[in-house]
Order: sequence, then C-alpha cells, then structure tokens
Amino acid sequence: MHCSPVQHKVSCSELICKFGVFPFQSSCDKDVILNILSVLTDLLSLGTGRRIHYVVSKGGSEALLQALATAAQTEPPDHGTLLPLLRLLARVGQRDRKFGLKVQKAEATDIILSLTRRHLGHHLHLTHCLWVLRVCASNVTTGTMLGINGAMELLFKVITPYSKRHVRTVRAAIGALAALLKSKSNSRRAVNRGYLGELLRLYQDWHRNDVSNNYIYIRRGLLLCLKYITNIQLGRETFLGSRGMEILFTSVQECLSCKNLDPIITTATHILRKCYPKEHLPVVTVRSSYSFPLPGNANAEPPYEGSEGDSESEGEEEDEKDWANEDVESKEEDCDLETDVNKLRSRPVLDRSEQELEKYEALCAELFQNFQSEEKKSLEDRTESLPSAPSHFIPSATSVKHPNCRWRNQSVTEMGPDPGEQDLKVPLQSWRKKEECIWDKNDENRDIAEKAQDKDFCEEEDPARNHVFALCSLLKDAAWYKKVFYPHCEASINPSPEGRLESSDMVGNLLEKHQGDIPFHSPCFYAARAKCVKSIPGYRELAFPDFWGHQPPPYSKPVLDRKHGLQRDKVLDDVRRLIQPGDVIGRTVFDLDDPSPAAPGCLTFFSKFESGNLRKAIQVREFEYDLIMNADVNSSQHHQWFYFEVCDMKSAVPYRFNIINCEKLNSQFNYGMQLVLYSVREALQGRPRWTRAGQEICYYKNHYRCRSAAAGGGGRRRFYYTLTFSIKFPHKDDVCYLAYHYPYTYSTMMSHLDILEQNRNPKKVYWRQQTLCQTLGGNPCPLLTITAMPESKTRDDLEQFCNRPYVFLTARVHPGESNASWVMKGTLEFLVSSDPIAELLRKCFIFKIVPMLNPDGVINGNLRCSLSGDDLNRQWLTPSSQLHPTIYHAKGLLYYLSSIGRAPLVFCDYHGHSQKKNVFLYGCSIKETLWQAGCMVDTAVVTEDVGYRTLPKILDKVAPAFVMNSCSFLVEKSRASTARVVVWKEMGVLRSYTMESTYCSCSHGLYRVTHPYGLQLGTQELEEMGSKFCLGLLILHLKSLPCSKELMAQAALLLDLEEEITDRAQRLYECCIQRALLWEWSWWGMFWV
Ligand SMILES: [Zn+2]
Repeated sequence: MHCSPVQHKVSCSELICKFGVFPFQSSCDKDVILNILSVLTDLLSLGTGRRIHYVVSKGGSEALLQALATAAQTEPPDHGTLLPLLRLLARVGQRDRKFGLKVQKAEATDIILSLTRRHLGHHLHLTHCLWVLRVCASNVTTGTMLGINGAMELLFKVITPYSKRHVRTVRAAIGALAALLKSKSNSRRAVNRGYLGELLRLYQDWHRNDVSNNYIYIRRGLLLCLKYITNIQLGRETFLGSRGMEILFTSVQECLSCKNLDPIITTATHILRKCYPKEHLPVVTVRSSYSFPLPGNANAEPPYEGSEGDSESEGEEEDEKDWANEDVESKEEDCDLETDVNKLRSRPVLDRSEQELEKYEALCAELFQNFQSEEKKSLEDRTESLPSAPSHFIPSATSVKHPNCRWRNQSVTEMGPDPGEQDLKVPLQSWRKKEECIWDKNDENRDIAEKAQDKDFCEEEDPARNHVFALCSLLKDAAWYKKVFYPHCEASINPSPEGRLESSDMVGNLLEKHQGDIPFHSPCFYAARAKCVKSIPGYRELAFPDFWGHQPPPYSKPVLDRKHGLQRDKVLDDVRRLIQPGDVIGRTVFDLDDPSPAAPGCLTFFSKFESGNLRKAIQVREFEYDLIMNADVNSSQHHQWFYFEVCDMKSAVPYRFNIINCEKLNSQFNYGMQLVLYSVREALQGRPRWTRAGQEICYYKNHYRCRSAAAGGGGRRRFYYTLTFSIKFPHKDDVCYLAYHYPYTYSTMMSHLDILEQNRNPKKVYWRQQTLCQTLGGNPCPLLTITAMPESKTRDDLEQFCNRPYVFLTARVHPGESNASWVMKGTLEFLVSSDPIAELLRKCFIFKIVPMLNPDGVINGNLRCSLSGDDLNRQWLTPSSQLHPTIYHAKGLLYYLSSIGRAPLVFCDYHGHSQKKNVFLYGCSIKETLWQAGCMVDTAVVTEDVGYRTLPKILDKVAPAFVMNSCSFLVEKSRASTARVVVWKEMGVLRSYTMESTYCSCSHGLYRVTHPYGLQLGTQELEEMGSKFCLGLLILHLKSLPCSKELMAQAALLLDLEEEITDRAQRLYECCIQRALLWEWSWWGMFWV
C-alpha cells in the first residue's frame, strides 16, 4: 500500500475497489489505517468529484464513519488518525447526498457531538469536527437530532462573543450553524433561546469591525443563519421585533459602494424582502371595479368571501433568483402532455344539432353568390371613399420604414429631431397606383359621422349612449389647449353648456391644423366608430393615440441593457419606505372607485377610455408612484396589461412608477423589454408614435399578498409582483400615454376595417364584412370573408371561385395581447392589397377572418377574459351560446364548413406570448406529443401526416421575426379546450395553429443579428409578420395542393421563374424565399411599379 503519487493515479480505481471490500474500519493495526487514510486523502485531493462519487458508491461513507466510531473510543484520543479521518469525512460527506442518513444509521451523531465538545479548547481539532458537523446537518432529520442534542448551544459558545481570534474555527462554526438552521425545528429552538438577537448583534459586530472587508465569508455566513431562521414565521416576527430590518438595511447601505460585497448585499436584501411585513393591496376589494350582470343564472367567479387572516404558511421559501425558473416550468409542461392515444385521436360528437349548423350558411354567402347583382353593388360602393388612406400595401417592415435603406447604419437619437424625417415621409398619393384612384372626389367630404350612422350596427344603438366624445385631458386643461390650438382666438373655446360643439370644434381644428396622414387610419372614422362602442364604464373620452393614430418610428430600438444589481437597488428602495416612513407621502391621487379631484402638485392620471385599466395611483414620494391595475371584469385577477394617461409632468425628471399588482411569475421586462410611450406634443409636432420607453426596468415579487385563497385561485397565485420603471417625459406639461404594449382598441379595428373596405379594388377583391354575433356587452364581432372576385362569369371561373380551399384566421381572444392585433392588421392589409402576390393568394383561398374574438375584453381593458370572467380560449370544447357567443359561433361556423366538406386547410389563432421571444407556432402532433412524454410509439398503429410542419418551416425562411426552433407541436392536457386543439381534433384540421408573437424581441434572425442584443419589435415588424404569414400560405399552397397550370404560370412569372420547371414546388419555394429575403433590403416599390 505504500505508493508514490504517480502510482496512486495509475492504480486509483483499483485501490478504491479494494477499499470498498477491505475491512480497514475494523482493523486494529494503526499503521494500516494511517496508510489507507493517507492514500485516500491523496487520491481524493488529486481527483475530480467523480472519484469521490466512486468512493461513495462503494460504501466509503459508511466505512469512514465506522472508522471514526472506532477511533473515538481510543483513550487518549489518537489525533494522528482522527484528523485525517475527519477531513476525509467532511470531504466525502459533502458529495454524498445521503450522508446525513448514513450518520444516523451508524449512530454517529453523538460521537461527532461529543468529539466537538471535547475539543472546544483546541481550535485545530475543533475546526475539523465542525466541518463534519456541518455535512451531517445537510440532512434535515440529522440536523434536527443534532439540535435536540445541544449542537446549537455548542456552536454559540464558539462564535460568541465577537472575536477575531481563530477566525477559521468561527467560520466553520457559523457554517455548521447555518446548516443546522435549515431545520425548522432548530430555527424555532434558536428563536426561543434568543439566538436571533444574538446573531444580529454578532453580525453588527463583524460588520463594524471588518473595515477592510477581510471576513466577508463570516459576515455572509451570519446572514445565511438569519436567512434560514427567518424562513419560519416566528423567525420573521422576532426579526422584526429585534429591529432586524433597520440593522440589515443600514449595514447594506454601507456596503453598496463596494462591489466585492455583492454576496453580502444580495443575501441581506433577500432577508429584508422576505421579512418585509406582508400587506393586502391598498384597495377596498381585489375584485374588478367593473362588474357585469351575466345573462341567466350564470355566475362568474364567486365574490370574495373568506377570512382576512394570513393564509401564508410557515417557512415561505423564496428563490434568490426570482426570474430564473424556466427549467421548472418546462418540467411541469412535460407532465401536462396528453399521453392517451385514444384521447388524442378520438373525434367527439357534435356539440349541437345539425339543423343548428345550417344557419351558418348565411355566413358563407360566397358559396351561393350571384355575381350579377354583386357587380352593380360594388360599383356603388366605390363612390364612398376616404381621403387619407393608401390603397397599396407595403410588404416589409424594413422597406416602408426605410425606403432607401439608410437606417441600418445610421444612428438616430430617440427623442431628438430626426435628420432623415423629411425624406422618410412618402406622400400618400405617390403610393397609390393611378388606375386605382377612381373614386369620386365629390364624395370625399361626405360627413363621416353621418355615414357611420348609416351602418347597420349603429341602427340599434341605445340613444342614451349617443354621447359626444371628448379627447382626454385636452379639454380639461384649457390653458394648454389654448396655447397649442388657438394662439389667436381665445374666445372660441369658452365652454358651451352642453360641451358638444366645443369638442367637435376642437377635433375639427386639430385636424385642420395638423394634417393626419397616417396610413390606414382616420381620426374621423375612429371617432365615429368609438361612438358606437358599448363599454361598462360608459366611456366618454378617447385616448389621443387611438384617435390620432400611430406611425411606426423610423428606427427600431435595441433591447435595453440591464444594469447590474438593479433589482436589488429597487427592492432596497422599497424597504426604505418601512425604515424611513417620514419620506413617504402615501397620497392617493387617482382612484377609479372613489373619483375625487386630482391633488395639486403631482401627476394627473386618467384611464377611462377604451382598453384603459388604471385603478388607483398613489404618490409614494415626490417623483414616485405606486399604480394598481384593475382586475378583469367580474374577476379578481389577471393583471399584467396596463394603459393609462398621465399629465402635468415636469420635464427632465425621472419619475419612478411601480405597478404593484402584476401576477405573472416572470416577465420580458427582466430581459430588456421596455414599455411604450406616446406623447401628444410629439404627435402634434409630426411624430405621432408609440415609442419604447422607460429605464431601470425590472420585475420582482413584492410584499403584497392576495386577500384570500379564493381571490388568488390558490397555489401559485398568492403573490403579487412589481413592475418598476422610470420615465423622463420628453416635454413639460405634456399629455402622455403609457402602455404595456402598442395599444390596439376595438374602435381601431372597426375603423381599420372601414378603411380597408373603402380602399379595396372591388373588381378584384371580394370583401364581405358580417357580424358573427353580438358580444355579451352588445358589441358586434365582425367576420370577414376575403377572396378574389371570379375571373369571369363563366361556369369554370365561378366553380373555381367556389372551390377554393378555406383559410380560417382569428385573433385577440386575449385582450392584453395587442401584438396579435398588429399582426392581424398586417395580414388584412396585405390580403386586400393590390400586391400581385396578394392577388394570387386571393385566387388560391377563401379567407374567413375573425379579427377580434373578444371585443368586450379589449374595450374594457381586460387582460385575459371576457365579460363573463372566463378565458375564452379555454371554452372551445363546450362553449356556451349565452356566455361565450363569439367562441360558440366561430366554432359553429367551423363545424358548418366541416359538415359540407370544406374544413379549412389552415386554421390559425393569433396570440401574444408574454414570456418568450420570437414569433412562432404551436401546432398539434400525436407522435411528437407521445415522444416528448417518453411513450412508446407504435408507428404501425399511429400514423400521422407531417404536413403540419410545412407552414412553420416556410415561415422560418420568409418571415424575419419567425423562428422554427421556438415552435412546438405538443398537445397539452391543459390546452385541451383551446382553439388550436379543438379545431385540430374536432374538425380534423391538420394545420391548426396558435401563432404566438413576442412583446419583446427576437433571439434569432434578422432582428437579432442587426444588433448585439436584438431589436425590440415595433408595430411595423408585427404587421410585417402578418403579411409574411400570407406569403407563407401561398407557398404552402404551391407546395402542397394541386394547382392549375395557369396558377403555376402566374406564380412563376411573379416570382421570376423560368418556364421549364422540373421540380416545380421546390424551385418555386426557393425562389419565393430568395425574393422574400430581397424584400428585406430593397425599396418595395421597385418590384411592383
Ligand atoms: Zn393568448
């Protein structure tokens, strides 16, 4: 056994093997034992963890423990054997996950304790014992036993009073104490014996005396003891009672300037945050300020009832890294997979009678169209027109924003003047093809409002609701308004008794003074549509950005770089409220439940407009506000979306805002996403745009808790999270709007549809807008049918028209996902455009589109639900015609199409994903689901068409924001009632998808590579995604469906193909991709004009 170190290496595994069977632990031969210990020590100190694991697997821990028992019995103690033995035990024990258990089995706890006790006076030996004590305590049961037997008392003798002598021993003792305190019973014992206060005093002593920061480990060790002890409620209460908050807060303040004290600051902040007294949200009730009486006896979420008691359990353990739990989620997702093949394959029975389906025939008029009369009607249509919308579509985000491709290498300041601004403004007239400008100019001045009144959906309007809208704030603040709009004539804004003339005058004047020239937007149309909207609060005001319109800025902003320690700083700032209450103003300055005039000298808030949802604003300090968002109607949860107006600000001062009732576990706000801001002054100076804004953004769990388990839905949702950001407003006394993401209201959509209808070419575009149904709130949910007009009235052409496969698209079932609407906007504009690709596409498909499945939710500022308080995308299995009419009828229409053999080729529901980057699809695959779940797949039994992969593969190539790698085709149990799964399973639609768009940025592709951190997506990129989705559909058609020679020829011509195509689909596909890529970089017009 005497070997040199080299030999050790060579024969190590051999030695270890022998070690496992060699009964050295019982050997009485001291020399043999010493030799083995020295060999082992060398072996294990040289090798990696794998050697230790090997020793452990061969029974090493047990052998060493037994050897210890033997050695401890010898009198006087033989330190020559004991010390290496203890060292080895500490080392092996650290790696052995069952070490504590083995200690118990070997009944070694008492041995170790008595060894420790015996060596109290000998620091080298004591240190060794403490190391072993620490690894023993890694098992909670063993730790508890050690605690019962007086281990903590022993350790306190070592660490108190404060002394810098024997720091190695003190450090080992603190380490062992921290390990012991992981046991709740030990923590309780420690608190009861007054150790918590002693730990605090000791921590203060070390903090005060360690001026040159030589003992960071000891200080952090003490903090770890406090961290574990405060995992129990008694610990937290005692900590508060012992002025723990003040002590730690003050010490942290003194550490902040020193960067290598990070471990101390982080642990102390963690304790401060955990011990901060829990509070309920400062609102009367967490239920929404808005409630809606449901039809019939249906009950939404039961009203809050329950005790005010703290439902929080003892030992609330919080993760130090609150926003790094993605692994946990993906594991949970795997458990959620549907693994029952029969369930995956079964087709359930119809959820309604066949006769009932027949009524959907009316929504498919294209199948029974008489084009004789239609042609006449469409000619009449043309006489109505809009002055300010281009009829030509813009194919790519980059091209419209940067017609001459300057932007990539040109830096543009955020709020300052844009040097290229003038060049970028393309006069709308030039976008329009001459042949299409054939409408009657005389009709242009027709009163828009009057026209809107003609519309069918306005006829049944409740006269009481026929109010006149005002623009928020602009009228409230007459002085500001005068200055901006009436520099000469102050008299003209004297308020009239009704206020009616005044506001329409103002809108008129605004429009006269500031040319609205935003493509596909008309303030007049918006106002007319907004007038017909039925909202629960009865909105009387319009948010300026929705009314005036938004134009994407000529630059994209990169993802925000996150400052080191930002979250910690913000948490400390929150803790300061408790420590220095004198600083806190705590004044409610806006309250939806209790409207009172705004307080002077602070910001003024407002959000009673479409999609607005601010409930309460509390001024915390001069430039800091806590904000609470309203819950979804008839619900007490779902807070994440926000949209509100703020005015009376100072310029160049950073204001801090905290939205304190967010609910999601994590947010892209922790990964560089910014919110969006719209400045009215900027808009009136020619920059009407939502821009990414906000600095020092982070998202973390706060000290607010749900009032009851019922309110929080139990389990994971007991906590609230804070989104904090600071904003420097661009102008003094401006009116600004802040939102989670680019807003897109119901009225925006309705007026957009008006414009599209007006501007389509009726000779080519078949467009039909119907009402799918009325919503619970009494708003029409539009259904669009878009395809190409038949080439001629010949039988062949009419037949081709009728037989085009269907594509069924829906969006915005979740109101907070406004990005889905921008993508849909891109799809719609492309579909009705005169783009040759769009023309071809219309000849290939009949599009059925429900652009907003949840109008009520969008209108009333909800995040996720409809007025019934239900998530509509969990109702597809058995939608109620009363409670979920839009889902009930969308499903009915799909069933109808399916019943006449015309189930859509593609179904896609547009969504936004709050946690992920990129745009991607969720699809459905039996095989992939089974594989992922680890089930055996019998390929003979389970057959599957892999065609569901084609469209995402195409999109990956043609759409810069789309990433195939982010797609998933798994069928989760929890998603069984979503549109995607139900349409796939019940209608047998192979290509049934959810399209998720990020709110933030891309991790791959064009929008990633152009900047080291990636660019935050703007509306233009989202709209582009919508148009590229259409292109993807065309390629899908060419690849997978039989098409006529004529169509192929057209496609070939369009996509620059030569006549002789051998592998037509492949070649065409590649060509499409090439062209698609070219579009990214070139001025779109070159191709078409
Ligand atoms: Zn969604």
